[in-house]
Amino acid sequence: MSEGVGTLGRRLPLLDYLKQHNWKGRPAGRWEYVGLCPLHEETRPSFYVNTRKDVFYCHGCGRGGDLIRFLQLSRRLSLRESLACLDAQIPAEADSSAVLEQAAAFYRKQLDRYPEALDYLHRRGLHDPALIGELGIGYAPGGMLCRFLTARGHSFAGLRRLGLISVQGADALYRRIVFPLCQGEHIVNLYGRSLGAAFAHRFLPGSKGGLYGWEKVRHLSVVILVEGLFDYAALRQAGFSNMTCSLGTHLNADQFRQLCDARRTVYLAFDTDQNQSGQQAAQQMVRRLGEQGIAARRVLLPHGHDPNSFFVAGGNAQQFRCLLEAAQP
Ligand SMILES: [Zn+2]
Repeated sequence: MSEGVGTLGRRLPLLDYLKQHNWKGRPAGRWEYVGLCPLHEETRPSFYVNTRKDVFYCHGCGRGGDLIRFLQLSRRLSLRESLACLDAQIPAEADSSAVLEQAAAFYRKQLDRYPEALDYLHRRGLHDPALIGELGIGYAPGGMLCRFLTARGHSFAGLRRLGLISVQGADALYRRIVFPLCQGEHIVNLYGRSLGAAFAHRFLPGSKGGLYGWEKVRHLSVVILVEGLFDYAALRQAGFSNMTCSLGTHLNADQFRQLCDARRTVYLAFDTDQNQSGQQAAQQMVRRLGEQGIAARRVLLPHGHDPNSFFVAGGNAQQFRCLLEAAQP
């Protein structure tokens, strides 16, 4: 059994497991990370992870050990159950992230080969090659992903399970611009924006993860929240760096918790669309964030615009800054 433990441990480092489960740790020395203890309630971080020894120790509750021990404590499992749990679930998660990484890399390579994809990006005002590369944006022309991935040893059933392909082997994100969605260093999902208007947005099954780009902004005291990845990209291109994206007007529980995990001001730059749903969502969110002690303001874009279309229509960074200044609670 000890051999099994060692093998599993090598397959999945403790820190990776914790990050996959939304643990927020910050570096504290060469081999150490520190954060709030997932095993007990606390407000000051006392939970340390040593990445060299692959163990944790909490100075708050005095508990420590390896990943198996952590599973036993956090899920109240026996040793045998913990091993089964790791074997059955966790390697599958780690594997799926690797497959998604390969799919995203494949789509990245296609982007430059298909004029319709580049035309679409240009129509949405996105033209900075460095930014397109940094965000890992790709294109799914359809028809080749399945062969590409099965040739690399991935099973058809596995690709089906991830939702990458249909029963016929066609790309689920066919004729879509593809953005990888990451959590920590892992890709947890792909978002596909259709080149056409019908069924514009699609995700693979499973979690979208937390807020997009959160790691880059979580330490900032002022954050701009947008609802779409093209809004995010447009603002980045205009020189703003403090954005995050909720991938829709509705925040999931993880995303809401992230916004509230420190004292900060949040600017909500949502659509001002015909049916007012974006602004209604923003108003509700201002109230909910306020209840958690977070100062939130609504950015009032010109009627019918979102941040992306604002810049496409000729808006500039200075004008957007004025909108931020005029933002209302
Ligand atoms: Zn503890």
